[in-house]
Amino acid sequence: MFTLPPIKKVSVVIPVFNEQENLPTLIQRTVAACEQLDKAYEIVLVDDGSSDDSAQMMVQFSQMPDSHIISVLLNRNYGQHAAIMAGFNHTSGDLVITLDADLQNPPEEIPRLVAKADEGYDVVGTVRQNRQDSPFRKMASRLINRFIQRTTGKAMGDYGCMLRAYRRHIVDAMLTCHERSTFIPILANIFARKAVEIPVEHAERLHGDSKYSIISLINLMYDLVTCLTTTPLRLLSVIGSVIALSGFLLTFVLVTLRLILGPEWAAEGVFMLFAFLFSFIGAQFVGMGLLGEYIGRIYNDVRARPRYFVQRVVKRESRQDEIHQEGNPK
Ligand code: UDP
Ligand code: MG
Repeated sequence: MFTLPPIKKVSVVIPVFNEQENLPTLIQRTVAACEQLDKAYEIVLVDDGSSDDSAQMMVQFSQMPDSHIISVLLNRNYGQHAAIMAGFNHTSGDLVITLDADLQNPPEEIPRLVAKADEGYDVVGTVRQNRQDSPFRKMASRLINRFIQRTTGKAMGDYGCMLRAYRRHIVDAMLTCHERSTFIPILANIFARKAVEIPVEHAERLHGDSKYSIISLINLMYDLVTCLTTTPLRLLSVIGSVIALSGFLLTFVLVTLRLILGPEWAAEGVFMLFAFLFSFIGAQFVGMGLLGEYIGRIYNDVRARPRYFVQRVVKRESRQDEIHQEGNPK
């Protein structure tokens, strides 16, 4: 097996949306954690259209002498994952770590993530220990995580935790994806060769409330599912086939019983009507499923993810392995 290049510089990307109370502590703790690394580092703060003083504070932090902070200001709110993508565009580290601004993910875990990535992993995920969120959020997360494990067969336990580390080539691969709705941990896993998960601490939000309303949570869940798979579209065909098949069976049973038991039994054709109805509803679903198959393919093509991602090409002649990024942007 080949080894990944050593990590010389670490970039930390933090999306910020109305987090003015958290910023000073966040920066102080993140800088302290990065100073322990013995590596070059930068902290990329992305202001996701905050309406409080977050943006001004970030700019001030960036302008301080010897500051390692880069501020990226978006003109309006685009959502956490879009903000992180914007941050990725301005990173130059060999390893990129994402973090929440509300200090639910302790920045003190950064050195552990870096050490783990240094062992030769493309992606380091995390599982929150003693998760400090509402019971509803925890239950929803558990359901979704189980669904993802089923569909992908990958045993990652916690996709909701944003404290994660990605190698440069994974970030570059993600940046070649131009789809609007993304869920970064899922996208990263698509390109990862070796991924691992480590347990991390989780704290309650330091100040303020969660920036996700029920509606935006549902939206995020749809982003996650559609980022991963078009299976739900295929479900239409499956449901349709089941309904249509039961309709046909029912018709068969009714016709047989009618022939045996006589016209009085069949309630003058009402049962038959139901049987036909079921068959037609089933056929409709199958039709929708067929449309779904086309839509799924259109969606995949419109999304224009690279068809494949070559991490490295090794030739006998060349002394040093070349890192290639090929893809077919279509
Ligand atoms: N965030 C963002 N844009 C948004 C919503 C959230 O940049 O539209 C940031 C927010 O500032 C925080 C992180 O994403 O740094 C996670 O948000 P939050 O803590 O509200 O989510 P939760 O912990 O409830 O999942
Ligand atoms: Mg939070």
